Amino acid sequence: MDILDKYDLISKRHSGLLEVGEEPFGLRMERVLSATEALVNGRTTILAGTNNYLGLTFDPACIAAGVEAMQAQGTGTTGSRIANGTYAMHEDLEQAIAKYLKRSNAIVFSTGYQANLGMLAGLAGPHDVIFMDADSHSSIYDGVRLSGAKVIRFRHNDAADLDRRLARSDDDGACKLIVVEGIYSMLGDKAPMKELAEVKRKHDAYLLVDEAHSLGVLGEHGRGAAEEAGVEDDADFVVGTFSKSLGAIGGYGASNHPKLDVLRFNARAYMYTASCSPSTVATVTKALERMQQSPELQKKLWSNANRLYDGLIELGYEICSPASPILAIRLKDEATAVWVWNRLLQNGVYVNLALPPGTPNGACLLRCSLSAAHSDEQIDEIRQNFAAIMQHLPLPSEGATATQARA
Ligand code: PMP
Repeated sequence: MDILDKYDLISKRHSGLLEVGEEPFGLRMERVLSATEALVNGRTTILAGTNNYLGLTFDPACIAAGVEAMQAQGTGTTGSRIANGTYAMHEDLEQAIAKYLKRSNAIVFSTGYQANLGMLAGLAGPHDVIFMDADSHSSIYDGVRLSGAKVIRFRHNDAADLDRRLARSDDDGACKLIVVEGIYSMLGDKAPMKELAEVKRKHDAYLLVDEAHSLGVLGEHGRGAAEEAGVEDDADFVVGTFSKSLGAIGGYGASNHPKLDVLRFNARAYMYTASCSPSTVATVTKALERMQQSPELQKKLWSNANRLYDGLIELGYEICSPASPILAIRLKDEATAVWVWNRLLQNGVYVNLALPPGTPNGACLLRCSLSAAHSDEQIDEIRQNFAAIMQHLPLPSEGATATQARA
């Protein structure tokens, strides 16, 4: 028995995908050309699956800030903040995030994934109970597992189900932490923040909101779903990432809790990993500024999202949520999804292929994510590609393999 034999079934399924076309889970881009285009197989391809919501990855001011910081302070920090020290710029960024989010404190983590690990496993312990939305991102699943807390999942976006489960749980003095996302990464739907906040208040629980996909996207100031719903005071802890609207890498946890800093000595995902590099910190600091100075980016993002949503609905596609910068198109089965994904790519459009078990309810999805940097012409080109493909749908009947679908 080989130690990696346990993955044989997965490998077989993956090889099947490669027989049909390109590698969907790690597509090779020869060169990224801009926030919305890359060279793939020598062809200029529109990127419509990058979470680059505000299109800041090529913002000249962000790039300049990153370059300058790298030249001044080196390529990396080479260690964690508790062992190797904190750069002043880490603290400056934390203060900038806290100020923007109207919180008293923020902690920067090296990725958004680690922000969830650090915050969840830092906040909750074996004597606490976490109530998490069933469609939560894997970083939330991993964070709650690491916490050792009792975990109760409630039905996706169902505040009444959360209410029932909270009412049923024994109140033996355990702290209760509710965990939700602002916009869900797979289906692009929003959390019902008002209702969730009401339930949280009723049961005297804490609420943590992961605004990874809603920062810069929702709310008058772009602070996310809690801002949009007017319930920021109910969100005791906010988690977010630098890898989407802010166009870099890293993450944060923010709160008004006066004891938040204790996590710096208790959250393993903060303590035992290297801190963000100077160029990352400087880029994110500038991106945060750019985001606040440029509300038109959020408007353009939504205009693009609505334009593509309307176009796809008109064509007859099934979209999993109302218009949103994440448009998840549900297709009949895996073979269809793989075929359409490859066809789009051949014609110069890259979206995300999302298959079970990584999707809710076994859905086979093509996930588009829009950017403020997309031009109207690019949105129309994406739509035209979907229109051309629609003529070939529905594809072979259920049970067809991916290879059959292509033929
Ligand atoms: N939370 C959510 C909801 C996410 O979708 C993601 C990543 N897609 C993360 C956290 C992790 O963020 P990062 O990729 O920046 O580590």
